[in-house]
Amino acid sequence: MLQTQGKVIIAGAGPGDPELLTIKAVRWLQRADVVLTDRLVSPDILTSFVRPSAEIIFVGKQSRKGASTPQQEINELLVFHAAQGKLVVRLKGGDVSIFSNVLDELETLVAHGIPYEIVPGITAALGAAACSGIPLTARGHATAVRLLTCYQPQLLADNQWKELAKTDDTLVFYMSGDALPFIAARLRENGIAAGKLLALVEQATTPQQRVSLFDLQNDAALQAHQPASPSLLIVGKVVALHRQFAWVMEGRSTEDYFLPVAARLLAWEEEQDKQLQTA
Ligand code: SAH
Repeated sequence: MLQTQGKVIIAGAGPGDPELLTIKAVRWLQRADVVLTDRLVSPDILTSFVRPSAEIIFVGKQSRKGASTPQQEINELLVFHAAQGKLVVRLKGGDVSIFSNVLDELETLVAHGIPYEIVPGITAALGAAACSGIPLTARGHATAVRLLTCYQPQLLADNQWKELAKTDDTLVFYMSGDALPFIAARLRENGIAAGKLLALVEQATTPQQRVSLFDLQNDAALQAHQPASPSLLIVGKVVALHRQFAWVMEGRSTEDYFLPVAARLLAWEEEQDKQLQTA
């Protein structure tokens, strides 16, 4: 019987630096017929590892600005291409299982009987920890780390804030750059210890990476900073270790490494045109 069944590989692309991709993800990308990619995936990954004949579809989401692809449409694209017997790679920023909509996609694939594999990636918290010199569970500082989000103020209840302010666990907030002063205020109101600092890691692992440390009591400094996208917040005793162990040169440019979805598409098309003209 003719093999018409396609397959979907859901793969993590790591936090930014293309060299933080797994070998497994590279191998699948080199074989892919279709690549569906998020916004927070390095453009270099697409140009270096995807075959020129493969179709690349930008399905990025962005909370703050501009275009985004509805999840329903992403699900339909996965089914459409797999049904034609194609090898589809669904590339997601960081790791597949951390603050992503992988569940919708898995449910869709199972409902349609489409075979799939999941390839993990380096999540932003781990990329940021490495490239800021902040070991998240450093001995004597923290015995656990929590991955959280506060992209909407009501996501965390009062009793949770109380507990978060008291714990010695390291806290890492995803999708929360805009909530920087809010998070600091809630932790302060709930009596967080003065020895715990907040690190804002902007565009971690990219050439534009910037790390800024804040004293949670200094509201003026927190209010004055407009975080770039994407940004991660790390809170805890471990943050002070950055002063001792920082090893990455600060990026001099504050440009966005990951372009908004619409601009990304335009840049990609221009690049394709250029290649066609020189071919
Ligand atoms: N699945 C991804 C997270 C997706 S949610 C992962 O495992 O990393 C998107 C959020 O991840 C962003 O709002 C930001 O908080 C964080 N993020 C992703 N890439 C980042 C980077 N290079 N630098 C800082 N934060 C990043």
